[in-house]
Amino acid sequence: MAGSHWTCPFCGRDTTITEHDSAGDLYEMKVRNSVGPCILLSNFVVCPNPKCKKYTLNVTLYECDKEWIPEMLSKNGI
Ligand SMILES: [Zn+2]
Repeated sequence: MAGSHWTCPFCGRDTTITEHDSAGDLYEMKVRNSVGPCILLSNFVVCPNPKCKKYTLNVTLYECDKEWIPEMLSKNGI
């Protein structure tokens, strides 16, 4: 994955995030419900600034079909 532009909310530094600075996972909620299948996507980003190194966590909930998963994964760099 090519690096993506990111601004740290703690130190305010504009930087480029690579796969070494982030970690994410995906959880598919399979319990039957009235809305349909949903997927929880979590992504931690650690600021590469050696004086900061704080993390942020982004969590997104998708209501979707399984066919959408590959597109979501590539969009989020997983
Ligand atoms: Zn920072």
